[in-house]
Amino acid sequence: MAVTARKPARRPRRVTILGSTGSVGRNTLDLIERHRPAYEVEALTAYSNVELLAEQARRLCPRLAVIGDDSLYAELKEALAGTGVETAAGADGLTEAAERPSDWVMAAIVGAAGLAPTLTAVRRGTIVALANKEALVCAGAIMMAEVKAHGATLLPVDSEHNAIFQVFDFKRRESIERIILTASGGPFRELDLEAMADVTPEQAVAHPNWKMGAKISVDSATLMNKGLELIEAHHLFALPSERIDVVIHPQSVVHSLVTHVDGSVLAQLGSPDMRTPIAYALGWPDRIAAPVERLDLAAVAKLTFEAPDESRFPALPLARHALQSGDGAPTILSAANEVAVHGFLARKIGFLDIVRIVERTLERVPQAPLESLEDVRAIDSTARDVATSMVKGTA
Ligand code: NAD
Ligand code: MG
Repeated sequence: MAVTARKPARRPRRVTILGSTGSVGRNTLDLIERHRPAYEVEALTAYSNVELLAEQARRLCPRLAVIGDDSLYAELKEALAGTGVETAAGADGLTEAAERPSDWVMAAIVGAAGLAPTLTAVRRGTIVALANKEALVCAGAIMMAEVKAHGATLLPVDSEHNAIFQVFDFKRRESIERIILTASGGPFRELDLEAMADVTPEQAVAHPNWKMGAKISVDSATLMNKGLELIEAHHLFALPSERIDVVIHPQSVVHSLVTHVDGSVLAQLGSPDMRTPIAYALGWPDRIAAPVERLDLAAVAKLTFEAPDESRFPALPLARHALQSGDGAPTILSAANEVAVHGFLARKIGFLDIVRIVERTLERVPQAPLESLEDVRAIDSTARDVATSMVKGTA
């Protein structure tokens, strides 16, 4: 269950944003600035964009600003000299940011790099708004056990999971039959495999409906994003893979749906703007205003749905299979995908090589049960090594 404790919203709410310079991070800060007296910022973190981090720190006056890349520490320190903002760097700095006493943490680092700080925040028993789906994919059972053990509250920020969370009656789970995740289908929804072989990183990151970071945009183009979301949903809503469907919905207006035993289907709708799910999490359990374009159904005119084409988008069945295999398979899937997407963005491999490499890494890396964070780290690292050698071999 995603919610294990229902804490009253304290105002002003003290917040920490892990990954503040990214797409989700910037949208979060935009909302905080619009509701300023209601929020105070404890910590902001970024990996390498010192300039933007320093600018954000000057605007939002956090107590702490952290740069993930150690080599940029001096630059950050100098940029914030005289502001009163404390600075830190590296993995320890990220942990410190997550440890600081805030009421609410946005986990918006991309990839498995976000796992350790997100878990640190979970262990404080605080409210964690989770955008960093890879953390849940690579260590789902461990993360959910920690949420429960520490009485933390996990609020899904991924738009599909946030939609389901808004209509999912956790107290009447027996009334829920299945959930349906919608997917835009990405920029190559109608492209044949031959044409897909030649697409460029620029074409892949140009998502038709959402403005997002590079990695998730490529994942949306391969549909691996929906595969990761399937695994994410399994952990957040404690449902087996067979009770989670995926449907392509190119308009991205219906963000996801819940089917009940009486045949009723409840959905959450809205314009495709991440500030809606982020506002939901920032205000939770209340609602706060978000400056998103209001849904004009007459203007949208037509909502369409179609089944995903698994032969052109094999990432989806691959992820479903990894979820069903259990053990470390989702960890291997996600780690190999990170490496392959990075290779594609660096123009070392082609678009279709991404999922091929993930599939071959899953075949090559022996699965092992995940009982601890060390197990996760070990299997993640082996998968990265194997996938990296495949990227080099393909290049
Ligand atoms: P992004 O690439 O725009 O930003 C990533 C953030 O993480 C940046 O602040 C970056 O500095 C930080 N970061 C990157 N590598 C790091 C490392 N090794 N150590 C510490 N910090 C690091 O990504 P995004 O689009 O904002 O996505 C963030 C997360 O949210 C991803 O997991 C993504 O799947 C998820 N998500 C994003 C959207 C969206 O609309 N962008 C929607 C749903 C879910
Ligand atoms: Mg999503």
